[in-house]
Amino acid sequence: MPLYEYYCQPCHGVFEELRPMREASEPVPCPDCYEEAGRIMPTSFSAFTFRDGYPRKIPDDGTYWHLGKKVSKRLTGGRPNEHPEINKPKPKPGLTRGERSALTDMRETAAKGDLVDMFNNPIGPGEVRAAYERRDVIKKGVPSRLTPEMKRKFR
Ligand SMILES: [Zn+2]
Repeated sequence: MPLYEYYCQPCHGVFEELRPMREASEPVPCPDCYEEAGRIMPTSFSAFTFRDGYPRKIPDDGTYWHLGKKVSKRLTGGRPNEHPEINKPKPKPGLTRGERSALTDMRETAAKGDLVDMFNNPIGPGEVRAAYERRDVIKKGVPSRLTPEMKRKFR
């Protein structure tokens, strides 16, 4: 039997139901409030008017629907057609795959406390990216290329 989607207006619940195709368009009792729920056509799903734009899914697992996709948080700001869980922010541009893997290695080294800057101050995993962009990452024990005069100038 095919799976169909239904929307219960009184409790703003969306649920799925396995039904014979010939009964698909008949209302189904809502599993939560037992009111009759009508079928949602797949094509009308995103155009459907929900409570605050976010119906709940039954069984209620605390998620919301956003533009036909399940998300764990309601959109509280920003543009209505952008949700961080759907329109995932792209990684910062400008890094090659090689650089990204180098940064990953550096973070691992930093987590062990083996990364320092030119002044021999430890670099934490969270500081690796910034330090890398300043070209100021040195693995502990590797001699700095800076001469003592340069170090005095930078300090
Ligand atoms: Zn209901």
